[in-house]
Amino acid sequence: MNLDDLPIRDDLRGKTPYGAPQIDVPVRLNTNENPYPPSPRLVDDLAEAVRAQAGELNRYPDRDATALRADLAAYLGHGLATEQVWAANGSNEVLQQILQAFGGHGRTAIGFEPSYSMHPIITSGTSTEWIQASRESDFSIDPGKAVAAIEEHRPDIVFLASPNNPTGTAQPLATIEAVLAAAHGVVVVDEAYAEFAREGTPSALTLLPAHPRLIVTRTMSKAFAMAGTRLGYLAAHPAVVQALLLVRLPYHLSTLTQTAARVALRHRAELLGTVDELRRERDDTVAWLRSKGLRVADSDANFVLFGRFPDRRAVWEGLLERGVLIREVGPPEWLRVSIGTGEEMAAFRAALEGVL
Ligand code: PMP
Repeated sequence: MNLDDLPIRDDLRGKTPYGAPQIDVPVRLNTNENPYPPSPRLVDDLAEAVRAQAGELNRYPDRDATALRADLAAYLGHGLATEQVWAANGSNEVLQQILQAFGGHGRTAIGFEPSYSMHPIITSGTSTEWIQASRESDFSIDPGKAVAAIEEHRPDIVFLASPNNPTGTAQPLATIEAVLAAAHGVVVVDEAYAEFAREGTPSALTLLPAHPRLIVTRTMSKAFAMAGTRLGYLAAHPAVVQALLLVRLPYHLSTLTQTAARVALRHRAELLGTVDELRRERDDTVAWLRSKGLRVADSDANFVLFGRFPDRRAVWEGLLERGVLIREVGPPEWLRVSIGTGEEMAAFRAALEGVL
């Protein structure tokens, strides 16, 4: 029997799953992780905290993750309270819960592509219709066109990734405000990479007090260097959080996940201490790629989109043959490289010179 023989939903037939290759190579620069592993001190603290919890694993976790949400609210600042913060297994699950509560059959979500590939996948996975709007050739969003698309389609959910994946483009607050003014549904600003933004790129968190239908999503997978923990979160009006309680599975966030995330938050000075280094490395990578005559999108994230290669697959494969895994994603002719350690980026530069 194969997949097509199963009585799966018609709208899932012929679809391909999300699939960043997980290949074991010396230099992995393909999924925008933070390359720095936790310190021995953090590992010890985490092991100790898990040990303290282990004796109670016969009990379900705190269903509402209250202590963790309080810690996340304190980390975010902006006067946010625990009731305004929600957490789940990665921001992908947060996004899915938003779609479950605000999307669904007969409803629509709009996004400005190229953008994060999981937005349309989570949208269609919840039987919500995806509406594809587009970005300008420099990957910015034209506020006038965005407002026109929202007025035309009247979507229930608007996605704005800022900084955007895979382009690295951050949205000016004015664009987000224009979208909020035009939208009748919820507006999700996906800030998975917010901590990597350049000076002067403010977070949409500042807009929350005036905009009750704004949802800002974040993750501990990137700057926080905790991708393996699977912890994403959001900040929004308390009523939005109440809506998500209607769709979340009971006890969705395990005791171990909540514990690990709280330990990581206690160690945030160490974990976020790598962000400045990664931003420097990113800016150097942008400058180096440009010095090679390549086109490079300005980046506020921990990755860089560069091109253009008439045969990008050949370049991707050439790098892989040299032990460097990057990502074949985004518009045709472009490739994306995640920012690694100084040594990893030196290996990337040497490999790319070999390929070119
Ligand atoms: N949003 C964006 C824009 C991303 O790039 C990613 C990760 N690739 C996510 C959300 C999801 O991250 P996670 O589920 O690990 O929090």
